[in-house]
Amino acid sequence: MQPPPPVFRFAPSPNGRLHLGHALSALTNEVLALRFEGRLLLRIEDIDLTRCRPEFVEGIATDLDWLGIRFEPGFRRQSAHFGDYAEALAALRKRRLVYPCFCSRQEIRNAVLAREAATGQPWPADPDGAPLYPGLCKGDDPDQAALRIAAGEPHVLRLDMATAITAAGQSLHYTVFSADGDQRSVPVAPERWGDVVLARKDVPTSYHLAVTVDDALQGVTHVVRGRDLEAATDVHVLLQALLGLPTPFYHFHRLLLDDDGQKLAKSRGSQSLAALRTHGVTATEIRRQLGFC
Ligand SMILES: [Zn+2]
Repeated sequence: MQPPPPVFRFAPSPNGRLHLGHALSALTNEVLALRFEGRLLLRIEDIDLTRCRPEFVEGIATDLDWLGIRFEPGFRRQSAHFGDYAEALAALRKRRLVYPCFCSRQEIRNAVLAREAATGQPWPADPDGAPLYPGLCKGDDPDQAALRIAAGEPHVLRLDMATAITAAGQSLHYTVFSADGDQRSVPVAPERWGDVVLARKDVPTSYHLAVTVDDALQGVTHVVRGRDLEAATDVHVLLQALLGLPTPFYHFHRLLLDDDGQKLAKSRGSQSLAALRTHGVTATEIRRQLGFC
């Protein structure tokens, strides 16, 4: 019997038009899916309902079509699957691996400053540069917390990282694959993220939880994404272990940088594919510019 084909996915957020950085990621997925005779899925990551807009979903479809990338018909929209994330959270709660946190950003900032003042040492930051959560709500009385939640107090749910790592048991690894099929095993160090947020105040999930659950539910075997998400993979591999989900193979592609050496981002007004198209740039030129033909 033939083994099932590998499954790849491209997963943009509809909070703006796609730019060249997205094109690079989508085209890298396409090339690797073709090379490994895999399926290519599209997923719309729209958990942030305040920033995601329907016209941007249409824009994504138009831009990918224009680039000539063929996805399997249909796509998974995260906003239609909050129930799946709630189920995963419930499983983690049941094992006491998450706890509610009522802190505001300012409270966290003040606690970090106080500790820095007390120790004379800089407080550790996560790989994205944000201070690790200083544990203010950790160990709070669960009954007290339940009362605050029942009273409607805004809160996030945090992963108790130390307990989670112990619960996951064995030392965790994932496998990175390259275009020519080479593989190497990478140990994870999720503790460098501290007690990450798994459900936000405004959204009943988080990026980490939603992508982990979705990749498993969609049967994704090969995750191809930018190097900016390499460190976050540690959290995803830990969540996979805790939730009993398979760990896909990973490939991290280069990032396109703007003139200031910053990662291309919609928020900084990088040129969209739609704007390039209006200026007469062709899909073939985009592919050539990014090194795909
Ligand atoms: Zn807190």
